[in-house]
Amino acid sequence: MRIDVLTLFPDMFDGVFSSSILGKAREKGIVELNTVNFRDYSNNKHNTVDDYPYGGGGGMVLKPEPIFAAVEALTEPLAGKPRIVLMCPQGKPFTQRKAEELAKEDHLIFICGHYEGYDERIREHLVTDELSIGDYVLTGGELPAMVVIDSVARLLPGVLGNETSAVTDSFSTGLLEYPHYTRPVQFREWTVPDILLSGHHAHIEKWRKRESIRRTWHKRPDLLKSYSLTKEEQVWLKEIQQESERTKEETD
Ligand code: SAM
Repeated sequence: MRIDVLTLFPDMFDGVFSSSILGKAREKGIVELNTVNFRDYSNNKHNTVDDYPYGGGGGMVLKPEPIFAAVEALTEPLAGKPRIVLMCPQGKPFTQRKAEELAKEDHLIFICGHYEGYDERIREHLVTDELSIGDYVLTGGELPAMVVIDSVARLLPGVLGNETSAVTDSFSTGLLEYPHYTRPVQFREWTVPDILLSGHHAHIEKWRKRESIRRTWHKRPDLLKSYSLTKEEQVWLKEIQQESERTKEETD
């Protein structure tokens, strides 16, 4: 996969693109990560990329010419059509499903905004996707683009050491992931659940699924609305709800 990022602050990506899993994915040649400073495509002698908003008001607006020119310089030599993703607090909320969808592409271009926003013609005539990482406003699109790129890149085959770890991750299954434990068995007065030490894989799998449902019901019950539970899982959910009712009554 090739990923290009249009930004006014390419240095911000240096650490993220060269460390940890992303750095390894890049070294292995699984993902090619490039930054493009769209100021280099400014068409005026002062190299400005923003201007005052028509109609007045505060803040500066990113001009269309440098961003269109930078995207066209990247796409014109290529046969395929990349997805052009605008990072924007008004975009569709970014989700694991979207990460899975983007991970199927060969080429992604991210546009990181700054200042008050973009000239609307960028949104209307250049981009294929608008993504938000949450209902809050950041200074620029760099951190949001890093968030999206990290979650997409880790899904590419060969990037994670253990291929199954992305499959059981929270949201991939539609539920939150089950709890994990490692050595020691006893830490202070807390012990690892016996079932995990039993060596009985089928029982462990069942326990993990049940705990996954419990966790989702407690922390993110909204996810259960779009998850279809088997008959057995419906029974577990009832039991979990009853257990929780009992604990609530006892503490009241
Ligand atoms: N005035 C804009 C508005 O109210 O929608 C906010 C502009 S924000 C200060 C500047 C840039 O940061 C945006 O153009 C976008 O690239 C990025 N940004 C800020 N918050 C974001 C979020 N939650 N998700 C994605 N990008 C965001």
